[in-house]
Amino acid sequence: MPTDPESRPAVPSRRRLLQGGAVATGAAAAAALAPAAAAHAAGPASGGRWPLGKGRFRTRLVLLGTAGGPVPNADRFGISTALVVGDRTYLFDAGRGSVSQYVRAGLEFKRLRGMFVTHLHADHTADLFQYLLLGLVSPDGDALVPPIDLYGPGRAGALPPQWGKPRPTPNVNPDNPTPGLKDLFADSLDGFAYHFNILGREANMPDPSKFLRIHEIDVSGTGANPIDDLAPKMAPIKLFSDGTITVETILVSHGLVFPAFAYRVTTPDGVVVFSGDTGYNENLIAFSRGADVLVHEAVSVGYYKDKGSDEAFIKHLEEGHTDVVKVGEVAARAGVGTLVLSHLGPARSDMVSDREWRKGARTHFKGDLVVGRDLMNIGVRHHRHHNH
Ligand SMILES: [Zn+2]
Repeated sequence: MPTDPESRPAVPSRRRLLQGGAVATGAAAAAALAPAAAAHAAGPASGGRWPLGKGRFRTRLVLLGTAGGPVPNADRFGISTALVVGDRTYLFDAGRGSVSQYVRAGLEFKRLRGMFVTHLHADHTADLFQYLLLGLVSPDGDALVPPIDLYGPGRAGALPPQWGKPRPTPNVNPDNPTPGLKDLFADSLDGFAYHFNILGREANMPDPSKFLRIHEIDVSGTGANPIDDLAPKMAPIKLFSDGTITVETILVSHGLVFPAFAYRVTTPDGVVVFSGDTGYNENLIAFSRGADVLVHEAVSVGYYKDKGSDEAFIKHLEEGHTDVVKVGEVAARAGVGTLVLSHLGPARSDMVSDREWRKGARTHFKGDLVVGRDLMNIGVRHHRHHNH
């Protein structure tokens, strides 16, 4: 296995490209395919229903990273997904490598119109500040255009009791142990002040504080709290509308994490739901009802049990995440058109193969199924409604 992920772009096999029916080649993937395979991949998909080729879709998803968990691996970058609608791009989570993958996918900073964070685990946010750190100026003229709306968690407000064996937990930043997005950006800006200030003088770096409009999502009306009612049954909250997409959110149950959000995006070509990290829960199933594409996290609990992982970790997987078999059940119950598995744990294909992921999800779900690979493009269009 190569130790440097940059040396081996994750290229979906032709078979994998055709399996989902909706999957087109990413810019990097297309460049890496042999000419014959590339020509073939540009033909009609299986069943002839969904044409391949990213130019054919006004609305598409680009899987920038598909790994779950804050553990670097050589197969997949950290979870991050771009939604492209015409000339506008929206980002959902920004895990490890997101900025590099954004560029490798051929996406442009100047087209980024919105960013949405599901929760504040680092595998979803490791590259978040890097968009501001690295996207402000470019000699090639591709830089962020302010203001960009950023949505996500505010301060949790309190830390819950510890799971598993009691042991001392270090509290980092005891004066504010549960910072939200505004804190994260304010403190990161302060920490990188020298970079911004010196580049301001060297290269007319604009004022970074003007680039983002940070919206911490207010969940106070839901009755939720960070200790014992993290994701009560609730109506969706409408967040964002720019004439191209509208975005709603709902709380989902992700272990001890509060708040943890899913997002539902209505585009001109269909509805896409991002599960974020979540256990099996009714909020998400109701929220995903009839979606054209559901991008859902998946873990293999069986893999970790076989490996003899400790009890607290298994509990974390079972309550804070969704086993791939149950993910298929969520998609079937919600009646979605295409299910995309992303944020896979384990992320390494030598631990759980794409075939095994597929088999798990297929136990209950009969619609279009995609096992996520970095730099895959997935066209979005209205699906025919099936009776599940
Ligand atoms: Zn998480």
